[in-house]
Amino acid sequence: MITGKNYIGKELSAKGSDTYSTFDPKLNLKTDWTFHEATKEEIDAAADKAQEAFQRYKSFSGEKKAEFLVAIAEEIEALGDPLIDTYIRESGLPEGRAKGERGRTMGQLRAFADLLREGSWVEATIDTAQPEREPMPKVDLRKMLVPIGPIAVFGASNFPFAFSTAGGDTASALAAGCPVIVKSHPLHSGTGELISSAIIKAAERTGMPDGVFSNLNSSGIEVGQRLVMHPKVKGVGFTGSIKGGTALYQLANERDEPIPVFAEMGSINPVVALPSALMDKGDDWAKQYAGSIMLGGGQFCTNPGLILGMESHSLDRFVDTLGKEIEQLEPTCMLHPDIHRNYEKGKQELSGEQGTHVVADYESEVAPNVAQQKVLAVKGSDFLQNTKLHQEVFGPFSIVVRCKDAGELEKVLNKLEGQLTGTILGSADEVVKHDTVVDALRSKVGRIIFNGVPTGVEVCPAMQHGGPFPASTDSRFTSVGTSAARRWVRPVAFQNWPAASLPDALKDANPLGISRIVDGQHTDAKI
Ligand code: NAP
Repeated sequence: MITGKNYIGKELSAKGSDTYSTFDPKLNLKTDWTFHEATKEEIDAAADKAQEAFQRYKSFSGEKKAEFLVAIAEEIEALGDPLIDTYIRESGLPEGRAKGERGRTMGQLRAFADLLREGSWVEATIDTAQPEREPMPKVDLRKMLVPIGPIAVFGASNFPFAFSTAGGDTASALAAGCPVIVKSHPLHSGTGELISSAIIKAAERTGMPDGVFSNLNSSGIEVGQRLVMHPKVKGVGFTGSIKGGTALYQLANERDEPIPVFAEMGSINPVVALPSALMDKGDDWAKQYAGSIMLGGGQFCTNPGLILGMESHSLDRFVDTLGKEIEQLEPTCMLHPDIHRNYEKGKQELSGEQGTHVVADYESEVAPNVAQQKVLAVKGSDFLQNTKLHQEVFGPFSIVVRCKDAGELEKVLNKLEGQLTGTILGSADEVVKHDTVVDALRSKVGRIIFNGVPTGVEVCPAMQHGGPFPASTDSRFTSVGTSAARRWVRPVAFQNWPAASLPDALKDANPLGISRIVDGQHTDAKI
């Protein structure tokens, strides 16, 4: 049942009188759920509890934390159809997507549990003492990763499960040993409350300290700002817009004690179509890209918002086919009237920019909040001069840039901001022939794709989801895949530490049986 209250640890709380409702974009109506904005006192209480919980939670074994994560996945599944129905009502997204995203979210939680059980992720590194070393004896040094403290998590509107309440940021922070306080997304606070109830149940079932998880409702920016400024919060995970992520990043850096903000933000995901791709498979790629631009109503951070090619007949044909293919596709409902309004605004603004012309424009009448897809084309020289065309339009929108040659294409890539992904369509030989173009693209992105579409982010250890700013605030880390836990830890070195008091990961006997680096060698042996 949705109560509209905040979770301050395991307590449901509604101390404030300010309320808001979520919205059903398909019915174009508010839902009948009312949510209580978290008050200053509730934010403080959540942070106090998180800090207290941290004192115990940080030293729980990998096995115990793994049990908690698996229990969260089980409790999410146990919520059954009411959870799926709430997701669909609050997002307008279809049932298949809801179930797929729920599966992905449970899979992520289980993947982090496996990481904890295996245990080597703490990067135990041991340099044994050399008391006889001349001219100075060498000390015994043992280093491993330890959790940083309570983490504030901000989810994105477009992934109510996988990038929200129990999404990758929460799962990775809990895996790392950090309590989590979620700032609930106002577009799916009902979904968020149900998921929170599953996390609380799992915490109680597996003996976690009260405060290991809290969920705060809010429909404005104040609760999130206060949370980021709270002295007991030690890190921030954010998925959302460039505007929101950079605002929180700046705020965190203005604190007396600055804290890390890992913000994964927007991206236009450039796609470079090399000549052979368009000559040999241009129609196929046009069809695939029409589908990729439209996927999820275009509301994906990996949406291909920019396609670059070199002037040729095959580029003309590709553009023509892309336009025809995308106009045939059924437009879909966006997440919220505000997101739809922003989409329309962005689309209109860019359509009015000098040198752009329309490739495809779905003009038939649609229901409220349904996004009509649009594709524009522009010459490379115009694109280079106008950075407005480089910005993300969140929705089913893309721009094809017609470059006069490979040199201009490279210039365009060099002018772009950092991106989550970049894609090369072509042959293996062309990757070699156009190595400077490929290099220009690679230097801008976190993931480079060959002959595919950027939408669809596999959750696995080798995934990189995050790129140079502004795609993310720290391109050295990922928000997807098990290495996402690396964001919530810091290394600590123990020098000449008493053997009995060392953490298990650093003991001579290696009781966890993990892989370590001992005197420069990878090994799981005892010392
Ligand atoms: P958003 O408007 O930035 O909102 C995200 C969350 O941050 C919300 O809870 C929002 O709270 C909060 N927030 C935003 N600005 C804030 C501020 N100045 N201070 C405090 N809190 C603030 O983004 P969205 O509409 O949910 O998501 C769409 C965007 O996310 C797109 O640009 C998309 O490309 C990007 N995205 C990126 C990824 C990725 O992995 N990189 C994944 C999915 C989506 P309020 O709504 O209450 O203000």
